[in-house]
Amino acid sequence: MTPNYPKRTPLAHLPTPLEPLERLSRHLGGPRLLIKRDDQTGLAGGGNKTRKLEFLLAEALAQGCDHLITVGSPQSNHCRQTAAAAAHCGLSCSLLLNGEPPATLTGNLLLNKLLGAHLYWTGSRPRSERLAELVAQVKKMGRTPFVIPLGGSNVMGAAGYVLAMEELMGQIAAAQHNIDFIIIASSSGGTQAGLALGAHLYNFRGQIIGISIDQEASDLKMQVAALATATATHLGLGTISVLDKVEVNDDYLGDGYGVLGDPEREAVQMMAQLEGILLDPVYTGRTMAGLIDLIRWGAFTRQQTVLFWHTGGTPALFAYGEKLLK
Ligand SMILES: *Cc1c(COP(=O)(O)O)cnc(C)c1O
Repeated sequence: MTPNYPKRTPLAHLPTPLEPLERLSRHLGGPRLLIKRDDQTGLAGGGNKTRKLEFLLAEALAQGCDHLITVGSPQSNHCRQTAAAAAHCGLSCSLLLNGEPPATLTGNLLLNKLLGAHLYWTGSRPRSERLAELVAQVKKMGRTPFVIPLGGSNVMGAAGYVLAMEELMGQIAAAQHNIDFIIIASSSGGTQAGLALGAHLYNFRGQIIGISIDQEASDLKMQVAALATATATHLGLGTISVLDKVEVNDDYLGDGYGVLGDPEREAVQMMAQLEGILLDPVYTGRTMAGLIDLIRWGAFTRQQTVLFWHTGGTPALFAYGEKLLK
C-alpha cells in the first residue's frame, strides 16, 4: 500500500544526514551508533517540527489562512519553528505560551520575538480557554487563523514522519546499514506515531523505542498508536493498527518536564565533547541519557546498530546557561 501524501510546503533541508557516532560508541564500549540529524532541517535552528510544518503549512495555505496560532512551553522548539515557517510563508503568527512572561527573553523565546511572532501567556488560566479567546481575537482583527495543536501532533504533522521513515529507508539501503533499534524522544507523540506507521509501510525491521519526556508509558503509547491509526486514514490507507510497533520507555522522566538533572547534563556534555554535536537539555539530552543508561546496563550487544534520532532543540541550551556546565 502506498500512502497518498497531501501537498507539502518546502521548508526543510532534506534528506538530513545519517552519520556514525564512532567516538561515542567507542567511549561507551557499546553497539554501533548512528545519528539521524533532524537538528539540521534548516528552519531557523531546525528540529523535528519542520517536517510536520511542511504538511501543516500546505494545508493552512490551501484553506486561505493568513495567521498561524499554536501553543507550547516558553522554550518550545515547536513554537519557534512555527514562527519561522509563518515568516517564511508571509503569514503572521501568534504563540500562546504556558505561564507568565519571564523577566528576560532567551533561547527560543528570544528567537520567537526576532521572527516576528506575537507572544501571549496563559497565566494561571486553562490553555484551551485562553486559546479560544485568542482565536476569536485574531478573527476580530480581520485575520483568518489556522490553529496548530501542541507539538504539531495531528495527522498532518505525523505525516511528516511517515515520509521521514521513507527517507531513512533509502539511506540505510544505500549505505547497507542494518538497524536494530531507533531511539527517539517522544512527547506529544506525532513524531513517534509517524515513524511507527512509516516502519509498517516501508518494512523497517528494527524496533523503535520512544523515550518519554513527560508522560507515563501506557498513556503515551495509546496516544501514539491512536494518532498513527488516524494518520493512516488521513493518508488513504484505511484502518491500520501499529500498536505492536509502539514501544515507550518512561524510565527517564527525571524531575519532570524541562528540569535539567545530572543524567541530562552528562549526556549533553558527552555528545558535545566526544562528537562536537549539540543536544538540547529538554528532549535530546534526556533521550541520550536514556540511551547511555541502556548501553551501560547491557541492553544491546556490540554487534547491534542503534540509531539515535536527533530531533533538534539546541536553541533551548541558551536558556539553561551555566547550569549546563556544573
Ligand atoms: C517536540 C520535540 C520532541 C518531541 O516530538 P513529539 O512529536 O512532540 O513527540 C523531541 N525533541 C525536540 C527537540 C522537540 O522539540
